[in-house]
Amino acid sequence: MNTYQLAVLPGDGIGPEVMTQALKALSAVESKFGFSTKLTECYVGGAAIDNCGKALPAETLAACSAADAILFGSVGGPKWDHLPADERPERGALLPLRKHFSLFANLRPGICMAELVEASPLKNKIIEGGFDILCVRELTGGMYFGEPKFYGEQDGEIVGIDTLFYRKSEVERIARVAFESARGRDKRLCSVDKANVLSSSMMWRDTVEEIAKDYPDVELSHMYVDNAAMQLVRNPQYFDVMVTENTFGDILSDEMAIICGSLGMLPSASLGEGKGGDGKKAFGMYEPSGGSAPDIAGLDIANPIAQILSLSMLLRYSCLEAEAADAIDLAVRRVIASGLRTRDLSNGSCGEKLVSCSEMGDAIAAAI
Ligand code: NAD
Repeated sequence: MNTYQLAVLPGDGIGPEVMTQALKALSAVESKFGFSTKLTECYVGGAAIDNCGKALPAETLAACSAADAILFGSVGGPKWDHLPADERPERGALLPLRKHFSLFANLRPGICMAELVEASPLKNKIIEGGFDILCVRELTGGMYFGEPKFYGEQDGEIVGIDTLFYRKSEVERIARVAFESARGRDKRLCSVDKANVLSSSMMWRDTVEEIAKDYPDVELSHMYVDNAAMQLVRNPQYFDVMVTENTFGDILSDEMAIICGSLGMLPSASLGEGKGGDGKKAFGMYEPSGGSAPDIAGLDIANPIAQILSLSMLLRYSCLEAEAADAIDLAVRRVIASGLRTRDLSNGSCGEKLVSCSEMGDAIAAAI
């Protein structure tokens, strides 16, 4: 029987509540598909600051290093906003984890199920039948990491500086992830940049063109980021796989998330290089696309589906347990089709049943 080591980091806000639901789904697929997991639960973010004095304690990092994958909840909240920027939960835990494990590829599926078209802020006629986009975002380069980075006084005036820097090798590896992903889908890849203005984007576009020669079966297009932001709300069905640099991806993937209906539906995978010697199992960190939602934390009303689908991505990419991942995805679809809705998805129509976070978790585990 295969056994996988997982580091489980619930974090702050709704993190622990939705993590509990994901672990119910994990138990259900373990017994059904005959594998087991060893879970090491650790503090991260604000919970780690409160209990261990820093957002990413050494024990947490060690547990992640020993694991096959990390299942992450979310971090942050007003309680820690007064801390210096580098000590706050996101800058102090999330970015260092991504950097430490070289998690350069962020995969965010943006799926609007036909049953949830009503929950999207877009007009029904634009998204009739739903849509299915995969956003591939470069995660360890660009402006969030480039140096110099400075906020202070220079030549007698206060200035703020960030640096947008990319190596060709960084663009090559993310482009390959995107082309490979497109191959497993509708074989259409749209590379998003700002090559009419930014030098880094000109290099990005040339490099993506070069890599495209290895993927003649994938149809490549390019789009400026301002146009992409517009097309996402005008015609989301245009996109199959979208690949873009870190900052553009941060913004576009959130836009994509909200047009799907709710942030609470969308998982993400942040992948590094392969681990385990077979070249196929990626080491990764899996987390909901949304944050810690402090406004609804502790009320048992959060939508646990993003966390549950993050678990499904973990099983697919880091454990190669595709059947278990498919079973989770199908269970989510069935439960949604049966009319169960957490508050974020509810539009009060007849035929829907409003459920709590834990009831949704129970229903999905039962459907598995
Ligand atoms: P947020 O994503 O936490 O919340 C935005 C809105 O979406 C809120 O109204 C929230 O209630 C709703 N929402 C999010 N997830 C939901 C779910 N599962 N079910 C139902 N509703 C959901 O973003 P924010 O308010 O900008 O940030 C709150 C905190 O989260 C901040 O401290 C921020 O730094 C942090 N944050 C963390 C991560 C992360 O851990 N990866 C990502 C983004 C923000």
